[in-house]
Amino acid sequence: MCVECKLRGNLCVAGAHGTPCLGPVTQAGCNARCPAFDRGCYGCFGPAESPNAASLAAWLEEELAMEHPDLVRLFRSFNADAPAFRRESRRHEPEEVAT
Ligand code: SF4
Ligand code: SF4
Repeated sequence: MCVECKLRGNLCVAGAHGTPCLGPVTQAGCNARCPAFDRGCYGCFGPAESPNAASLAAWLEEELAMEHPDLVRLFRSFNADAPAFRRESRRHEPEEVAT
């Protein structure tokens, strides 16, 4: 979805003010609606084709200091059961919950 965001001329909410955004792993098609209103994407259009959710999560951990439970919540919203998002949310659960 980041391409749509750039085409629309949105400011990147993640880079500009540290708002978590699922745009890099989300299917395009909404014309980057949420970032246009200064909100991060919650992935309501579902995962993009071959999303690299682990890479996005690593960036969120490193750059925005996100960790459990915020990472789990981010991937577990509208499309929590989509395989890519489900897998990534489970990776950030405490061990005793994930098993
Ligand atoms: S705001 Fe989100 S969708 Fe837009 S460029 Fe930044 S990370 Fe990508
Ligand atoms: S949450 Fe849905 S409407 Fe909002 S930016 Fe993401 S895909 Fe678009």
